[in-house]
Amino acid sequence: MWAAHYDRANQPELRGGSAGPREDDAVEVFPRILKLDVGGLPVEWIDWREAVGLYFTDKIAWEAGSEKIRLRGGRCRETGDRSELAIDSIVAVRDRSHRFARGLVPTLSRRELYHRDGGICMYCGLHMNYRDMQIEHVVPRSTGGVHEWTNVVAACEPCNRHKDDRTPEAAGMKLLALPYEPNLAEWLILANRRILADQQAFLERLAPRRNRLT
Ligand SMILES: [Zn+2]
Repeated sequence: MWAAHYDRANQPELRGGSAGPREDDAVEVFPRILKLDVGGLPVEWIDWREAVGLYFTDKIAWEAGSEKIRLRGGRCRETGDRSELAIDSIVAVRDRSHRFARGLVPTLSRRELYHRDGGICMYCGLHMNYRDMQIEHVVPRSTGGVHEWTNVVAACEPCNRHKDDRTPEAAGMKLLALPYEPNLAEWLILANRRILADQQAFLERLAPRRNRLT
């Protein structure tokens, strides 16, 4: 039984340095672990408890990170020794999901949309707090616009209100960048605000280069 706590003395450098968690983050003390499938492609983020389970059930095929998350468990009653486990920041499991290879479309969610658009209103360029962002359908839903990555942008309330149920052309508004559908690697980057440097580098190799400015 792991009543583990994170050994802060061994804490790897977290992206973002001392700026601390952003306001849209749940408090995440422990870095999450990047899980890969048996083909070495990304599947999902898992928390350390799930990773511990994978280690103890011998599901780890290999480790691919350069960081170790060190966990300390309880003390052994007989010896007084403290149990320790080092979890790799990137683990490949004997999993045949092949999520990445299947080109699975990542879930469209508010938080990841906010980060995809850099927290900026895609019409006026205003930097918004997460709570102030509105999800704007480029082709309005009332005229058949779909609720998909390629038809939604982050927008501020005044721009969203001004555009109303019109296309950008009809409203005389220009998008600063085109909406796009992130692949799974990009989505995993967007979905983890405490990503470790090695995890980020691994995922960036699988993310297409984009030049979004219109
Ligand atoms: Zn705006």
